[in-house]
Amino acid sequence: MRFSNLHTHTVFSDGKGTVRENIESAIAKNMLSLGFSDHSFTACDTSYCMRLEDYGRYAEHVRALAKEYEDRLPVYLGIEKDYFSEIEEGAFDYVIASVHYIIRGGVCYPIDHSEAQQRQCASEAFGGSLLDMAKCYYGMVAEHAAKAKPDIIGHFDVLNKFSIMPELSDEYIRITEEALRETVRHCRRFEVNTGGIGRGWRKTPYPSLYLLKLLRELGGEVVINSDSHHPDNLDCHFTESAALLRKAGFTSFSVFDGAGFQPIAL
Ligand SMILES: [Zn+2]
Ligand SMILES: [Zn+2]
Repeated sequence: MRFSNLHTHTVFSDGKGTVRENIESAIAKNMLSLGFSDHSFTACDTSYCMRLEDYGRYAEHVRALAKEYEDRLPVYLGIEKDYFSEIEEGAFDYVIASVHYIIRGGVCYPIDHSEAQQRQCASEAFGGSLLDMAKCYYGMVAEHAAKAKPDIIGHFDVLNKFSIMPELSDEYIRITEEALRETVRHCRRFEVNTGGIGRGWRKTPYPSLYLLKLLRELGGEVVINSDSHHPDNLDCHFTESAALLRKAGFTSFSVFDGAGFQPIAL
């Protein structure tokens, strides 16, 4: 089975490879197409995102290489839009909407950088309650979907990256399922994101299987993305993710063709 990847980071944000190195890797891997989605600018943390002044250079560079490689690989220009970012509407082929921060009391807490920072957020901003932090995070995901009207919901349950959420508790499951129901009303296309596997944090992608099953029941659609930060990881764990999607009851996943999303049978 041939795959595409729309969630790719390069040296324009916190990725290790250049746009060209990623394209060459995708060709070597016989991929169907490739999309770039460097991090939108976040004023509360500039350590990993694009600088505002680089948006134009990023777009021009990706477009130029898309032209150069047009007979070998379809290449698309996207962006990973954070909850706290503004982007120009229509400037990108597609938008992935993700939540990376909770801001409380003027403090910006990254929720997917480290377990210590996640615990610090729960401790300082939510009186130590992981569930209250989860309510806040998942509420933001649904709100982001409603406001940004993105093409794809990014790493829906990344809050469980470090496996410290009480994933088996009824309350956590209720919070996540309710948020998924609300989110899908605004954007029915979610990514299966293997980024946590590529970087050794997890054995399975986001979202968890019970959420994928619910997404399918609700008529949702899926793309398979690796959230890669290195050209070697463009298709990390994709074959296994396809098998997981079949287990969740999906019969197809979607691939972007420049104009829209087309189903590919699983
Ligand atoms: Zn992200
Ligand atoms: Zn990403």
